Amino acid sequence: MTARVLVVDDIPANVKLLEARLTAEYFDVTTAMSGPEALEICERAQCDIVLLDVMMPGMDGFEVCRRLKANPLTHHIPVVMVTALDQPADRVQGLEAGADDFLTKPVSDIALISRVRSLVRLKMVTDELRMRAVTSREIGIMDAELQAVSETGRGGRILLVDDRRSSYERIAGILTAEHTVDVETNPQEAVFHAAENDYDVLIVSLGLENFDGLRLCSQVRSLDRTRGTPILMVAEAEEGARLLRGLEIGVNDYLVRPLDKNELLARVRTQIRRKRYSARLRDNVQLSMEMAITDALTGLHNRRYMETHLATLVEQAAARGKPLSLLILDIDYFKSVNDTHGHDAGDDVLREFATRIRKSIRGIDLACRYGGEEFVIVMPETDMAVAALVAERIRRKVASEPFRIEQGVKSLDVTISIGLAALAGREDTGATLLKRADQALYRAKRDGRNRVVADAA
Ligand code: GH3
Ligand code: MG
Ligand code: MG
Repeated sequence: MTARVLVVDDIPANVKLLEARLTAEYFDVTTAMSGPEALEICERAQCDIVLLDVMMPGMDGFEVCRRLKANPLTHHIPVVMVTALDQPADRVQGLEAGADDFLTKPVSDIALISRVRSLVRLKMVTDELRMRAVTSREIGIMDAELQAVSETGRGGRILLVDDRRSSYERIAGILTAEHTVDVETNPQEAVFHAAENDYDVLIVSLGLENFDGLRLCSQVRSLDRTRGTPILMVAEAEEGARLLRGLEIGVNDYLVRPLDKNELLARVRTQIRRKRYSARLRDNVQLSMEMAITDALTGLHNRRYMETHLATLVEQAAARGKPLSLLILDIDYFKSVNDTHGHDAGDDVLREFATRIRKSIRGIDLACRYGGEEFVIVMPETDMAVAALVAERIRRKVASEPFRIEQGVKSLDVTISIGLAALAGREDTGATLLKRADQALYRAKRDGRNRVVADAA
């Protein structure tokens, strides 16, 4: 994971130390010796995460953090405040300034690397969402960028696996201020619980009485249903080796006892934000895929999808010796609808026509907008005679009920012509079937419109 880390500290020795450790882990490191310098680097979008010293002359770390989080150019960059161990109040102030996490001086290697990794993962998903948001803004969806990164990570559902009462009561007590917490004291049950519910975060104590918490983490990682659920482990200070092992098997982050309230809250929020952003990305991909095969005006499939899928349906029907029929439907004198009532009224007619088509067909039928005011319906397992009945039903449904246009203010008589063809013989393909249906449509138009004509082949 190559990420650019900005280390900000006024003391050169501190900068050098962090720089060396991060470089050893293959991060790209940039350094700044003052707040203003750090702000400038962030504004130029030259870093993915900021490690920010609190105590600096001139502008202190809190002020730098506040400014980063208030600036739309930089508010999405994760900030880790590097605080002194003897100043716990700094964490509260850091959170208020908008910091995403904390490191305590002297900074341990494992803390440094896991903090940076966890926040880099968060940054990767927010970057992707922001990039897509920019595209959405270009196609007219405002505020998408802000929506893309305004997730607070609150209101999550958390499963806490811990069998020590004093411990789980304390953790749950802190977290219920902003989340819903289920406590599971039996680690064997925890896996089922996690699989049955869509938790935002799993918190696993490594100090379970008769069970290895890491085993639980690994089970959670290997199940399909829970693979993506963030895990935070809670360990004793002397359990460094097990923490490392946990991070290796895919645990996202950890906390060390005695727990600091603000660290706990901040880390849980980070995990929840990342999970929600990832879910949004997935929805976004799904949506793009749907958009690629859908006609935007009518919501029916588009021509490209129909032609691809028709080939498959034809092959399948031929292989199984089943019938297959196809209709081409074309609105009569549609040009005059546009000319007389305007293009928007024309669009209303197209949408309403699509709705009537949708209501007239079965789930296995494939309806698409073939172009302009031409539509195609492919009907698997349907012979010519049945297809003719369906076509006639749709024709009547259109002709018998006027179409409402201009938000229902006016209505309009509409008729359609339909050409019909059925799969015939081994040589027949999607293309030849479409062609024969189109020829039949042509005859329907020639013979006076508002009628169904079947291909004679
Ligand atoms: P015919 O009975 O022979 O089918 O006559 P027609 O007027 O329906 O056919 P023609 O192909 O001459 O005109 C189709 C019209 O459909 C022309 C075009 O402006 C209009 N059209 C195509 N796509 C759209 C669209 O998305 N919205 C609107 N409102 N009109 C469209
Ligand atoms: Mg027409
Ligand atoms: Mg036409």
